[in-house]
Order: sequence, then structure tokens, then C-alpha cells
Amino acid sequence: MTARTRPDLDLLPAYVPGRSTPGAVKLASNEVADGPLPSVVAAITAAAAGINRYPDTGSTVLATALAARLAVDAAQVVVGNGSVSVCQQLVQATCADGDEVVFAWRSFEAYPILVRVVGAVPVTVPLTAEHGHDLPAMLAAITPRTRLVFVCNPNNPTGTVVRRAELERFLDAVPPEVLVVLDEAYTEFVRDPEVPDGVELARGRANVAVLRTFSKAYGLAGLRVGYTVAPVAVATAVRKVGVPFGVSGIAQAAAVASLDAADELMVRCAELVLERERVRDALVSAGYEVPVSEANFVWLPVGDGALALAQRCADAGVLVRAFAGDGVRVSTGTPAENDAFLAAAT
Ligand code: PMP
Repeated sequence: MTARTRPDLDLLPAYVPGRSTPGAVKLASNEVADGPLPSVVAAITAAAAGINRYPDTGSTVLATALAARLAVDAAQVVVGNGSVSVCQQLVQATCADGDEVVFAWRSFEAYPILVRVVGAVPVTVPLTAEHGHDLPAMLAAITPRTRLVFVCNPNNPTGTVVRRAELERFLDAVPPEVLVVLDEAYTEFVRDPEVPDGVELARGRANVAVLRTFSKAYGLAGLRVGYTVAPVAVATAVRKVGVPFGVSGIAQAAAVASLDAADELMVRCAELVLERERVRDALVSAGYEVPVSEANFVWLPVGDGALALAQRCADAGVLVRAFAGDGVRVSTGTPAENDAFLAAAT
């Protein structure tokens, strides 16, 4: 007889990562196409000399650098093993059995899994017809059991955004004991001036946390570094549920070097944004509905055609992310990669 595991986990779907096949054009995981900067590689190499020692469990140098950059107290910053780990910590720090977590759907695939793992209940609120968050409906979905609300801005996988005025109205109306997590994994790709900077919006609010990552604009998906900026009391709880030494010294050093190279990396983001717009324009010209995206991907809400479109792309050597019955998400790659996708899809 095998050891007994929690029966409720039998029903839980596993997180499905974007596909990866050697030699294929990979536009399935919202990574950036550019490799690491030489300065980041040098920092990684230098840090490698110290891997016989445990890393700084508080990621102090990185947390201090982030705090200075964002003009927050370092006690508000918690670094984790990718923002998905920090996301898990935020859930663990706020939710127990039977508590509810409200979020839009479709959104980031990990939310329902992380919520169920702690025995809490996902409460999903359908996106609007324009594929964006329905904040009034999310507000209405909050009950006395709600402990946490995710607002993914821009939203994965639709690329849609929530603007300042509606988000402020929403935050003003959420009960103060409910934590709102603004997941800003793609914030560096936003060009809409009406989209607020979550850290600014959270200032002075005791129930708002911001989640960010080095995986996207900063190009460190393979090293796993993310962080939250949260009210100090929340940050303290989030730190307690983290795995000790969860972020390697190499990852911490690479993140610090990436922050130092932010200007250079933001130039890459600007180039990516131009490509995103070119891809969207070409798709719209070809007759697809494509919501305006503020992230490093576009969303094609092709409904029941999702799997077939993804297969057509795969047959042409381009891997995209299909959500059966709903749509296809395509990361923005290099101009040549994007051309390969457009040739397959249009
Ligand atoms: N939030 C959102 C909205 C995401 O799309 C992702 C990655 N797909 C993450 C968080 C997690 O990213 P990471 O763990 O690499 O920081």
C-alpha cells in the first residue's frame, strides 16, 4: 500500500507549463527572447564561487536595492523563488481551510491551484466581453469568507489592463481585512498612461500588495526571482511562510545586476513593445479579434478553434499556448520568430 496523500489533491489539475521542443520557436511561456546581458553573466559567475555556502535567506542586498528604487521600506519587500512562490506565500499567509479567494477568470493558471493547495476555495469571476477584469462583479463576489483578491494587471493571458480610476474605486470599496494582490508580472510592457503603478497605488493602503518578477522584462525566468511589496505586517507574515534559503545566491546576484542594468533592459522592452504592436496589427488585418495587449504577448480569443490554431503553428515549428475552447496566447519573440508565427497563423 502506498502512503496516503490528501484525497482532495487527486482532483487538482497539475500546472501545465508551456511546451518546449528543441529547435522550435518558443512563444508559449511569455519569456523574453534575448539572452542575459554580459554584466548579468559576470555577476552569476562571481556568485558561483560562493555556492558552498547557504545564500542570504533574506535576500538583503536585493531587497534593499528594490526598496530604494521603489521608495518603500525594505521591510515591505519579500523576495521569493519566482513570483509564483511569493504568490503561494501570499495565499498561505492569508488563507486557511474554507476561506475564499476571488480572481478573474481566465487569468494566471497558478491561482486556482495555489488556492486549492491550502484548502481554500477559488471564486472565479468571468472576464467581460472585452476580455478584461469585471471589477464591480469581483467586488460583489467578496463575502465574509474572502481573505484575498487577485487583480492581474495586465492580465495573463488576455493582456488587458485595469485603469487607475476603476482600480482606485475598487480598492476603496474592498473591506480592509481583505488583501488585494496586484499581480504586475508584465508591468514593464505597459504603455497605456492610465494604468497605475501598483506600488504608487498601494502607498498608504494597508490591504494592498504588489507582486512583481524578474522573469519577464528582466529576462531571468530560468533563475526564479520574484518579490512582493506589501504592508509591513503582511510582508512579515509572508516571510514566515517562505522556505528558508529559497532564493539561490546566484539568482540574487543576477537580480541585483539586472536592476543595475535596468535602463538597458528597458530599451529591450521598448523594442518588444513595437513588435507586439506589429504582430497585433498583422493579426487584426488578417481578420482576428485581438484585444489591445499591454503585456509581452497577444491573445487570440478563437474559442473552439484554439487547439487547431496551436496545432497549425506547431506544424510550422512555432509553439504557442492554447487554452482549449477559449483562445491562444502568443508571446512576442524576435522579429524573425514573430514572422514565423504570423506566417503560420495568417
Ligand atoms: N504572475 C503572472 C501573471 C504570470 O503570468 C506569471 C508567469 N507566467 C507569474 C506570476 C509567475 O512568474 P515567475 O514565477 O516566473 O515570477
